[in-house]
Amino acid sequence: ATPTALMAGTGKAAEYGVLFRDGEAIQTLKDVDTVVLDKTGTITEGDHSVTDVVPAHHAHADGGSLEDQDRLEDGPGDAADRADPAVVEARDLVRLAASAERGSEHPIGQAIVDHAEEEDIDLADLESFDSVPGKGIEATIEGQTVAVGNASFLADRGIEIPERTEKTVVDLEAEGKTTVLVGVDGDLAGLVATADTIKDDSGAAIRTLHDRGLETWMITGDNERTARAIADQVDIDPERVKARVLPQDKIEAVRDLQEEGKHVAMVGDGINDAPALKQANVGVAIGTGTDVAIQSSDVSLVRGSLAALVDAYSLSERIFSKIK
Ligand code: ADP
Ligand code: MG
Repeated sequence: ATPTALMAGTGKAAEYGVLFRDGEAIQTLKDVDTVVLDKTGTITEGDHSVTDVVPAHHAHADGGSLEDQDRLEDGPGDAADRADPAVVEARDLVRLAASAERGSEHPIGQAIVDHAEEEDIDLADLESFDSVPGKGIEATIEGQTVAVGNASFLADRGIEIPERTEKTVVDLEAEGKTTVLVGVDGDLAGLVATADTIKDDSGAAIRTLHDRGLETWMITGDNERTARAIADQVDIDPERVKARVLPQDKIEAVRDLQEEGKHVAMVGDGINDAPALKQANVGVAIGTGTDVAIQSSDVSLVRGSLAALVDAYSLSERIFSKIK
């Protein structure tokens, strides 16, 4: 392609809210055959809100939606269910988890803090705070050690997950919700589920990519079940979901596909995604994303929508079909 054509192309793209780093980025994009999409903030809005609060001794009494909560709080619960887990009621569970998550910038943490605020629950002071990226957080609240995170994070702390809680987790995750477990002083206190909405046009954009012969993958730090439930809603093949990928391993996931001979575009919004964006043949930063993601990318989708990725791809194809 002539420099003039590429220049005109980049200008045209900017009108669609697609910013190419340079002419070479346009060229590389047209050769892509595989698109790896981060889940949270890329396919979904990345804006979690709390949907369920389930104290451990109530788990699987009867699901645990917020509508059920009054009943759960009033009811005596099943005597047999009251065996090992710590007996912490829903409001206290939210209070402890939210107090601990005060120190976190993670969207799940923010959702729990927001929920406490909506419920007029006063938070306690944070005496210490520690976070493990992609796993969870641990804090000291009123002299108690509170851990909030995924199952492996709690397991690492020797906290056992009763079978009925596991069942509740499975049910919630099958609905596409993300669950985090809350441990207090070494015992499971309960779980909090959050949900994130899929962006309006994600599904249509992904289907268009398929129609153009591109293969799509989802990559996420979230668990397998939640990831697959979301993938299913946007028509990503469940076999092409890489779940529970730690932030530092996203780059590896991209490299694996490249080693299979794929030309990979990686789309992401977070700091976590930056190394993978650099590794990809084309790194695509989406939305208002973090500066780090934008700096690591070859293409920026200003509108924050995957429809802009389709526009960018079409444009790169058009420019090159015209000029060769
Ligand atoms: P994603 O790729 O979806 O943005 P992350 O890698 O940030 O996910 O996190 C993966 C998982 O680690 C979350 O689904 C959650 O289970 C757990 N986790 C991470 N940070 C926190 C936190 N602040 N509080 C609770 N759980 C967390
Ligand atoms: Mg993300």
